[in-house]
Amino acid sequence: MKIAFTATRLYTPAEEIAQPLLLVEDGVISEVASRSAKEVPAGAQLIDFGDAVLAPGFIDIHMHGGAGLDVMRASPSDLPRLGRFLTTHGVTGYFPTTVAAPLDATCAALERLADAIEGWDRNHNLVHARPLGIHLEGPFLSHKRRGVHPPEYLIAPTLEIFDRLWHAARGHVRMLTMAPEISGAMEVIAEAARRNVCVSIGHSDAEMPVAQQAVKAGARHATHTFNAMRPLDHRDPGIVGEVLSDDGLSADLIVDGIHVAPAVVKLFLQAKGHERAVLITDAISATGMPDGRYQLGPIEVDVKDGKCTSQGSLAGSVLTMDRAVRNVTKFSQWNLREAVRAATLNPARAVGLADQYGILAKGALADFIVMNPAGDVLKTIVGGEGS
Ligand SMILES: [Zn+2]
Repeated sequence: MKIAFTATRLYTPAEEIAQPLLLVEDGVISEVASRSAKEVPAGAQLIDFGDAVLAPGFIDIHMHGGAGLDVMRASPSDLPRLGRFLTTHGVTGYFPTTVAAPLDATCAALERLADAIEGWDRNHNLVHARPLGIHLEGPFLSHKRRGVHPPEYLIAPTLEIFDRLWHAARGHVRMLTMAPEISGAMEVIAEAARRNVCVSIGHSDAEMPVAQQAVKAGARHATHTFNAMRPLDHRDPGIVGEVLSDDGLSADLIVDGIHVAPAVVKLFLQAKGHERAVLITDAISATGMPDGRYQLGPIEVDVKDGKCTSQGSLAGSVLTMDRAVRNVTKFSQWNLREAVRAATLNPARAVGLADQYGILAKGALADFIVMNPAGDVLKTIVGGEGS
């Protein structure tokens, strides 16, 4: 069955196509063209979105939950409900992200998440985002920059513990946030990179030379830049100095207007540029829910007026990716296409999934969104099927 989607504009997102034609067969994109170059094939079902914009579905590589569900506690059968919630905000693929917790509990959570990843199914009654891989945020974090990760569950990195986590997750670990300055870190960075894990430096008090050494060992990304990092000093640039000045590194940011001031968001975008800036939500189970007390792994979080805290420290967010994208257009000179790129192609590239995700191109999965020109998500399509 061939479906032809049309609209007024399409973001690939590296380019913009006017009067686009997006052809989908069996959940995969078979062609992206302009209608002036290609006609709707005979026999194809035509779905016209009028004056809307088509773009890849958002990829959130750092999220802990939403709609009342915490990814470390949810059962595999619960996750479609979270996936459904995510699609209402334009997310079609995500990395469930752990926090530091007792090792046994973490391994049990990783097994459940591996089940959810392997068991994801295109469900015709419930269009839901795909869990694409697991992001381990910890347990190899700095005590000094742990944020709300409980100190009793932080562990010094060893190959043995990394391997235990890797096997519990049945190889689905695709991202690892760790502090490079802890003893044993460089060996784990090198081994994780060898297994194609995107090693991301973060929750770290590293000085600049140590951060550079981590990059040499295989780290290629940075986690929620500025938050839970040794701050930038112009004579002691530290990890932030390396993240902002190294063009080989991509880096992510929480653009909720709370974690990072709008002027610093602008600085970050200028430093990392259109190809390496990545948006994440760091969203917790409270996302899409009323104010109150929520669980983030083993951590209790209070949510008030959109701010998540635990004992006075910021504890994730209730940010949604569509709002992060709109915030970028408000806080900087970036247009909607550039902001969308930071939530689609850039994260997919950072984690090595851009052949099929985060891009509208032949051979990629037909996971896309329909937006109005203000960036409001009107409809989300996963595997060629919409909700
Ligand atoms: Zn997080």
